[in-house]
This record gives sequence, structure tokens and C-alpha cells, in this order.
Amino acid sequence: MHLCREAKAENIYMGRIERGQDLLESLTAICRENSISLGRVEAIGAVEKARLAYYEQGKQEYREIDLKEPMEILSLKGNISLKENAPMVHVHVTLGDKQGRVRGGHLLPRTMVFACEYILEKFSGPKFTRQWDEKTGLPLWPTDQS
Ligand code: ZN
Repeated sequence: MHLCREAKAENIYMGRIERGQDLLESLTAICRENSISLGRVEAIGAVEKARLAYYEQGKQEYREIDLKEPMEILSLKGNISLKENAPMVHVHVTLGDKQGRVRGGHLLPRTMVFACEYILEKFSGPKFTRQWDEKTGLPLWPTDQS
């Protein structure tokens, strides 16, 4: 089974997050302030330090990856949907170090911005509400939502 719903692109928001801010919390606050509960996000910039996660499929738990060094945000991509009636920003990032080596993962709070330019796109359409998925142990969009 799979889920496929039609959504329509509405507004685009562009902006910058200041140095010293929490990257994920800032993106979540921007969504809340602009009533974005369905959409997508992308960004580039740099972070002072990062906290990422890798999901261990066998154990069904996240393993944290702490990167305590300044890195470039080479690519940040994510989606916005609802979890427990509030907008949840689900973001994956690819970060580059000073040798150009790449690290990446699921973005966690306490990733601190050095500079960040984001583009957020708001969609109108059906609600996407995350629900517990037994097969993966993750809060995912249900495939049988009517
Ligand atoms: Zn993820």
C-alpha cells in the first residue's frame, strides 16, 4: 500500500535565521507563526555545531550523532505535517566539514545556526497527520488514512 494525495502550492516564505539560534526550533516556530502545517522546506548556510540522528532499523531506535565543529549546510530538505495537532518539521541535512567531507542525518534540536537562508513552501490540501507505524517504530503518515 501507499499514500498519494494531491496538494496545492500556496505561499513561499524566504528568510534568514540568525547566528546562535536553534535550527530545528527556529524552522518549527516559523511554521507555527505562519500557520504552515503542510509543506516543504529547504535551506543552505552553516552551523556552529550539529546534533543529528541515525535510525537503527533493527533496534528501532535513534542513535545520536554529535558533531562539535563548524560545518556548512550543503543541503537541508524536509517536510511539514501534523503530529499531535501541531506542525512537525521533519528535516534531513547534509553537512560538510573543512576538508569537504560530508556527514548527514535526521536533524535534532541543539543544532546551532551560524548562518541560514531558508525557503519554506506552504501547501493547501488534505491533512497529513503522523501516526505510530508498527512496522518501523516511527511516527509516519498512515497509508490507510481516509
Ligand atoms: Zn528523519
